[in-house]
Amino acid sequence: MSLFRRDNAPRGDNELERVGEQLAAANADLQRLRRAFDALPMGVVLADEDGTPQISNAAARRYTGHASVLVAEAIERLLHTAVAGSPCTQVVEFYGPPKRLISVSAIPLAEGGALATTEDVSERARLDAVRTDFVANISHELKTPVGALAVLAEALAGHDDLAVMRQLSDKMVDEAHRAASTIDDLLELSRIELGGAALVDSVEMGLVIAEAIGRCRLAADRNDISIQVDQPKPPTVHGDSRQLVSALTNLLDNAIKYSDPGSVVSIDVRTTDAWVTIEVSDHGVGIPARDLDRVFERFYRVDRARSRDTGGTGLGLAIVRHVATNHGGDVTVKSHEGEGSTFTLRIPSGITPSGITPSGITASGITGDHT
Ligand code: ADP
Repeated sequence: MSLFRRDNAPRGDNELERVGEQLAAANADLQRLRRAFDALPMGVVLADEDGTPQISNAAARRYTGHASVLVAEAIERLLHTAVAGSPCTQVVEFYGPPKRLISVSAIPLAEGGALATTEDVSERARLDAVRTDFVANISHELKTPVGALAVLAEALAGHDDLAVMRQLSDKMVDEAHRAASTIDDLLELSRIELGGAALVDSVEMGLVIAEAIGRCRLAADRNDISIQVDQPKPPTVHGDSRQLVSALTNLLDNAIKYSDPGSVVSIDVRTTDAWVTIEVSDHGVGIPARDLDRVFERFYRVDRARSRDTGGTGLGLAIVRHVATNHGGDVTVKSHEGEGSTFTLRIPSGITPSGITPSGITASGITGDHT
């Protein structure tokens, strides 16, 4: 219905009121639409038949300085192309820091004019680059044992000396285990990355620690390494117990792997109102200061040869970092070459503000030697 009368007949008070109400309602609708338009994360610019911008939302106007000039230029150029009938896209790059990529697209509108959108695709591009890198790393990591298997199998085929054949087949088993460990860790990492953490469960850290120690016991015994646990008040956290066991097992496994036979690895658990802190310390080879920042990266190893000898995949600490992040915590390391390392995993505390541990956890202390 038209809001305006075409004749000049005088309006009654009621009718004027009604028109006023309709105008107010239409204005309120417009304001709501405007707010929704401005709340869109994507920039939107509407142009007239000449390709001249008429309306834009807040996201389209958010770029400042140099960025604003380059984005505005791209929008105008693409809108002019779009009003001529061709949809088009351009990615505008800013070298920063931080480096940013803004994708600008424009499409012609059926009723005339054109619509341009802008979107910050920096994070998507970064993830794509990480993924491409990751695939390249995986291929490289698996190529080594698979290549070795082929060489060993060829050598085996050319020998009839039983002792040599046994040696070659032992090496083949080692290489097959190496490939299998890398695949296992990759599957674990992708499950942890994709799955996030089910933070609904109340997890007793005492059980997590016991399970991790159980998994590493064989390696510890083989190297005559004792594991000492200091856990005065067994805490509870909200989290995913499987992920927490995986994180702690990786820290413990490393502490054992990078220690000399006969030494001690310790686990210290502390609880504050805000955090449960688990420190895993060893007196092993330590990590050079220059590598400390990088050890949590996938496939990063300080000493490739040693990691290879100990069957390392280079993925353990990446798993630990993901588990920490999934739980809203973090993992840090302090280390001195030749003296040892301490990895600290912090998880937000599951203790209620009143200080009562949930789900009837006993608060008796565990301190002991778990050799
Ligand atoms: P890996 O499977 O090679 O142990 P991780 O991701 O678990 O891979 O660790 C990455 C690298 O960090 C290791 O290769 C090793 O060089 C170093 N590292 C990790 N933990 C320790 C530790 N407790 N002591 C010394 N070096 C360590």
